[in-house]
Amino acid sequence: MSEPLLDISHATKIYGGGFFHSSHQVIALQDFNLTIPEKPAKVTTIAGESGSGKTTLANAVLGFVRLTSGQIRFRGHDISQLNRQQALEYRRQVQAIFQDPYAVYNPFYRVKHIFDLVIRNFKLAENKREAREMIEDALQVVGMRGGEILEKYPHQLSGGQRQRMMVARAYLVKPSLIVADEPVSMVDASLRAMILDIMLRLRDEHNISFLYITHDLSTAYQVCDQIVLLYQGIVAEKGDTVKVIENPKHPYVQALIDSIPVPDPTQKWSEDIVLPDEEELRIRIDSGCRFYPRCPYRMDRCLVKQPPLYHIDGVAHQAACYLYDDKPHDGSSSSA
Ligand code: SF4
Repeated sequence: MSEPLLDISHATKIYGGGFFHSSHQVIALQDFNLTIPEKPAKVTTIAGESGSGKTTLANAVLGFVRLTSGQIRFRGHDISQLNRQQALEYRRQVQAIFQDPYAVYNPFYRVKHIFDLVIRNFKLAENKREAREMIEDALQVVGMRGGEILEKYPHQLSGGQRQRMMVARAYLVKPSLIVADEPVSMVDASLRAMILDIMLRLRDEHNISFLYITHDLSTAYQVCDQIVLLYQGIVAEKGDTVKVIENPKHPYVQALIDSIPVPDPTQKWSEDIVLPDEEELRIRIDSGCRFYPRCPYRMDRCLVKQPPLYHIDGVAHQAACYLYDDKPHDGSSSSA
């Protein structure tokens, strides 16, 4: 059997502590496991509230953050152990799209510059003509044409144009995986639909997988194949998107779905569910279920140990909650 495209095992990131544990530790991500196959390409959503650990995970996959423990393997290679050549290839294979495309542009350079830079860094073209063809091809994928637009400065583009340019830039190097961190949260509804549609076309027509980081369940429901819901750095529920969103099992995820104002998963997810003292709770609740203080079904045993992921429906639907302790689990607190 071939190696998966991305294999994250027992990924843990702890911030703080200092020398002699002189400051509080914050567990941003704990024992996180995820596998994305080489084929077929998939859109995997990592969802959760602010502070759930989803951006820490994205940054770890992009190599911006070093894990405290655990491993991220790309086609069988531990990304923390890559040599220079392998690291360059990894940076080509794994691209990023961020929430605020404007922050990625250098305001003093024309738009064309970001494409030229990528082509030069990864030595993608033999000559100018070939480079121009590659750029036109990438722009076409996102429904744009070169011409004048490449000669503009970033501030002369609309927010939507800037974000589509970012998708085109990511596509330019023909990656295998794109980490998309809240890519549609700053654009309007019509543009959101367009960008989500582009993601699906890249998945289906170009075999590009996505790690889609979002707090918005409605867009996750529209585009993703599998979903992982994080709560304070721990997997609360994961599995096939339709199964999880249409029939949530973890009390936290049920509360999230209930917080959608009408029973329509295509509606935007309410952000009102965030309660105060999240950080404080995260520091204090370090042994039992992190959702205990907010859970309507809590039991004494929930405080003793973090529940493992119980298999509600095999690997297609798992939830980390003792309410399902009649179901099998794989023994790890959040293993797939
Ligand atoms: Fe609630 Fe216990 Fe389940 Fe945690 S394990 S979500 S506290 S019932």
